[in-house]
Amino acid sequence: MKRILTGDRPTGPLHLGHYVGSLQNRIKLQNEDYEMFNIIADFQVLTDRMETDEVEENIRELVLDYLSVGLDPKKTNIFIQSKVPQLSELFVYISMLVTVSRAQQNPTIKEEVQATAGGKMSLGMLNMPVSQAADILAFNADLIPVGEDQLPHIEQTRDVVKTFNNTFGEVFKMPKALISKSPRLMGLDAENKMSKSRNNAVFLSDSKDEVIKKIKKAVTDSKKDIVYDKDKRLALANLLMMYHLFSGKDIKDIEKKYEGLGYKEFKEGLSDVINKFLDPIREKRKEFEKDEKYISQILKEGTEKASEEAEKTLKEVRKAMKYDYKKLGF
Ligand code: ATP
Ligand code: MG
Repeated sequence: MKRILTGDRPTGPLHLGHYVGSLQNRIKLQNEDYEMFNIIADFQVLTDRMETDEVEENIRELVLDYLSVGLDPKKTNIFIQSKVPQLSELFVYISMLVTVSRAQQNPTIKEEVQATAGGKMSLGMLNMPVSQAADILAFNADLIPVGEDQLPHIEQTRDVVKTFNNTFGEVFKMPKALISKSPRLMGLDAENKMSKSRNNAVFLSDSKDEVIKKIKKAVTDSKKDIVYDKDKRLALANLLMMYHLFSGKDIKDIEKKYEGLGYKEFKEGLSDVINKFLDPIREKRKEFEKDEKYISQILKEGTEKASEEAEKTLKEVRKAMKYDYKKLGF
């Protein structure tokens, strides 16, 4: 069976960008013939910050977000990166195969460093795509449903596969990114991608009033008419795109609906659309919210299964690299 590896950093709640960029694909694929592994990449939190007070609670919230949008733990193994030691071991091996200059070419890393780490690049940040390669390769995953920002990371994983297989023999499959129709939803600031860490997101767990408040404040321009023009009116184009994505209506029909009206009416309409989309997600969240034990159980079982599968791959890796030390009795 083909495998999928995907995941998120526990840096905050999931947002609309996650939904259209990756979650939608995950929900669809878990019902097809794939074995799904969903990593909660807690080591990655440290790449751009040292505050760890909220990591544990964020992990819990992530699982709640997953359950609320319809990820099914029976079909998707949800697990915690730091609790699968095989991932760290593989990371050590493969980081030896990557040159510093290759790592420095990754454009997403440069962007992240500017956006969230105040321009300071830690070695962990530089190495993050290699750590992610270890996460993917430990499961020999075929497909990786990700947003556009992740493409350079997947390219690095593919480079690692080539180097490893050429050096030590064919152990790894060549993984492929799976990009959705909206691989980069912009944030409400109309400058950056929507992001947990950039204060520009509508979260899947936002209340009705929060959505209304955020959309009211969303950046626009000084013009009045509601017309899609991605080159000249990026902020509005992004809001129209959201309206389209979460209502299913064609952009042309949305323009027509708001002919002769202005931002006030359009923004009210957009809030309604988003709130209607979020309502069933909110309902589901209520079902799961109180059941602390269920969330721990999902994570325990998912992490156990992930460790078992990663250990199978690591056995092959150690053997190929002659690090299994059979003669020494290991
Ligand atoms: P942070 O700002 O803390 O890095 P994030 O919002 O970028 O958080 P991640 O956990 O880094 O979220 O990313 C999880 C997945 O969601 C990745 O596959 C990423 O490509 C995808 N993703 C994140 N933001 C967007 C977006 N705005 N549009 C589409 N996909 C996105
Ligand atoms: Mg990110």
